[in-house]
Amino acid sequence: MSPDPTACPCGSDAAYAACCEPLHDGRARATTAEQLMRSRYAAYARGRSDYVFRTWHPRTRPADVTPVPGLVWTGLTVLASEAGGEDDAEGVVEFEARHDGAGGPDVLHERSRFVRRADRWVYLDADPE
Ligand SMILES: [Zn+2]
Repeated sequence: MSPDPTACPCGSDAAYAACCEPLHDGRARATTAEQLMRSRYAAYARGRSDYVFRTWHPRTRPADVTPVPGLVWTGLTVLASEAGGEDDAEGVVEFEARHDGAGGPDVLHERSRFVRRADRWVYLDADPE
């Protein structure tokens, strides 16, 4: 079973071109923390490091966001969202992101914190589970 290459990696069931690609290309912006989180996952899955960098708070982002070689992102499940709505300044999204690579299949379980900065959602940091 191979995934549909036109499907968005974020698991929305929509086509990438109609889902996260407009955000990655700067033609649209995430209105909620969860949407930003999904689009950041999709950016990792699609190798859009520019978007990963752009949506990371300047205070916490690393200088280099080059993906880990050989790491393949295989699926996302959003478990919970707190705040992060269109009228909020902060939000938390808990998720599981599945990946595969040199170390074999594994799951990243994280509670990510997002803040709104200059009217754009950005990733701040995470509480490891
Ligand atoms: Zn998407």
